[in-house]
This record gives sequence, structure tokens and C-alpha cells, in this order.
Amino acid sequence: MPAGSGEAVAVTVPEQERRRECELATSAVRRAADVCRRAQSELSAADSRSKADRSPVTIADFASQALICAWLEEAYPADPVVGEESATALREDADLRGRVVALVAGALAEPVAEERVLAWIDRGTAERPTRGRFWTVDPIDGTKGFLRGQQYAVALARLEDDRVEVGVLGCPRLERDGTAGVIVRAVRGEGTEWLPLDGDGASRPTSTRRVENLDELRLVESVEPSHSSHRATRRIAERLGVRSPSLRLDSQAKYAAVALGLADVFLRLPGRSSWREWIWDHAAGALVVEEAGGAVSDARGRPLDFGRGRWLTDCRGVVAAPRDLHRTVVAAAADEVARRLR
Ligand code: AMP
Ligand code: MG
Repeated sequence: MPAGSGEAVAVTVPEQERRRECELATSAVRRAADVCRRAQSELSAADSRSKADRSPVTIADFASQALICAWLEEAYPADPVVGEESATALREDADLRGRVVALVAGALAEPVAEERVLAWIDRGTAERPTRGRFWTVDPIDGTKGFLRGQQYAVALARLEDDRVEVGVLGCPRLERDGTAGVIVRAVRGEGTEWLPLDGDGASRPTSTRRVENLDELRLVESVEPSHSSHRATRRIAERLGVRSPSLRLDSQAKYAAVALGLADVFLRLPGRSSWREWIWDHAAGALVVEEAGGAVSDARGRPLDFGRGRWLTDCRGVVAAPRDLHRTVVAAAADEVARRLR
């Protein structure tokens, strides 16, 4: 504040502010991931439902979105949040609603009114703003993996116009250096780091793996063949001369694996050319790979466009790879793209 001015002058320090956002987002993701972990170990058939698009949703998806939105409401009350879930189904389903509220109350360690929980969840149903800042959240990315007892991620990102500025992925079942459960996070322009999900272990920088020969590449793809064609990945791997079989992980844990050097190339080749990619399925993941030294594009090599809707604009599949190899991988994918994604 200038001396003697008598009034506060707002000084915005973008880097510092983004670092603060990243810390806050990390706390929110931690709290949500904790609830997901507890719920995953105790899940019964009564805890999940099928959505209109036939994709599954569980009490943990709702509780995770409620907790993250509550956190954002306190820290950034003016920021819109574009999330995957809404409370509509819970308003009509008292049994499920009760389970979600109990889960949230358990996480907060205090009673909480039903309406409050529903309002938090619905904070995540904001219109996607055409300009300016907003957050996007996938409270459980990879719900199918979550239900199988396998990988999933809690994904939170802060965007400005079409740029992802901060991205945080909580991956409770991903392991790095003997640490089970990691957070992988990035602030634009500042690199990617990882830290244990539990405890107060220090964060460490991470980067994509250096690969000298294409045959050493390790690919990673979806577990669900309906989300990404395993056959297409196999053909691309053959074209590149890759020797080892592809790793299969649900969720944005695939982006995290590339940023951590556990895999080198993430390929997503949806079987349905009409499939549109949601922004919350890619925002945090794309930033952590880019800031770790990778490049991310759609399968045709075009940049991911976060600039318009709740979907990535005109996006067909995804290729994430170390920057120096990205072009080579896109070229190797061209035939498969021509066959199924144009
Ligand atoms: P993954 O963990 O790679 O299987 O991706 C999970 C994401 O796949 C979910 O968040 C969905 O948004 C998305 N998804 C659902 N159905 C499809 C589909 N038919 N094709 C491609 N992606 C899909
Ligand atoms: Mg998702």
C-alpha cells in the first residue's frame, strides 16, 4: 500500500495468487479424496445409481463435489464452478440423499443440513462463462474404475478464458516411489510437482521420462475399451515399434502417470466418433503433463480447446507425450484417426 494513501490498494501478484490457488485446490482435493477412499472400501450396491446416459454415479461422487464446492465457496465465492454432477437426482431419492449427507457430515466431523449439501453440489452447475476465471471439477473421474476397486482421480482445475492456469489431480490408488496415493499438480509456467496424498510430505518436481528409442516407450490407455479402442492403441504401438504392453488405468491417472514418468504416452481413441470430451475430464490432466515437459493435443495433433463450452471444442481423442516425441506419436496415430475419428 502506498505510504499515507489512507486506503488499501489491491496489488495482484498473479504467480503468488496462482500458487495460493494451487494450495487451496490441493487441500480441497485431499479432503475429497479422503472421503472417496473411505467410501470405496465400504461401497454397497445401494450406494450407486445409473445416470440418464447410463454412466454410474455413487454417493462418493456427490460427496466429493459437495466438499470441493464448499471449499471453493469459502475461498473464492465469486468464481463459477463447472462440475460433472448436480443434486437433481438426490432431490428425488431420499435414500441416496441421506447417504451422501452422512458422508459429507462424516468428513466435516459435524452435522450438516441436507439443503446445505445439495446447495454445495449445485454450486458446481454454473454456466460455463465465455470469458474470465472459473473452476472445473470432476469429483470422481473414472467412476467405473472406482466401482471396480481400481484407479480413479479427483480432478480440479482453474481456468481463465481458454487457458488452464492451475491443475490438481488426486490419485488415491496411484503409486510413486513406494508412496501409495499421490497428488500431481501444476501452476502454468511453474512446472509440475507431486506429493503424497497423506501426511505433510514435501512436494517434489516431476517431469516426463526421457526416452532415447521409440521401442522403449510405455503407452497408457483406458481400461474401458468403449472409451478408447484397445485395438487402435495396439496398432499404433506396433507402428512405433513399442515392445512392452500398454498400461491400462482408469481416469486422469493416465495423465498423472505420464507426468510422473510411470508411462510415456497417453492415447485416447474413442470408438464413437460422435463422443465429445468434457472439459473436467482433461483440464487438470493436460496442464500437469504440459508443465512436466509433455505436449497434449487431440489425436489429430490439434490443441485442446478449453475456450468455449462444457466440452472441448472439436476434439477427437487425445495424445499426450514427451514434447520431443509428440509429433512422431501423432503421425503414427494418423491411420487409426482416419479410420475411426474423422
Ligand atoms: P477412462 O477413465 O479413460 O475410461 O475415462 C473416463 C471418462 O470417459 C469418463 O469421465 C467419461 O466422461 C468418458 N466416457 C464415457 N463414455 C465414453 C465413450 N463412449 N467414449 C469416450 N469416453 C467416454
Ligand atoms: Mg470423468
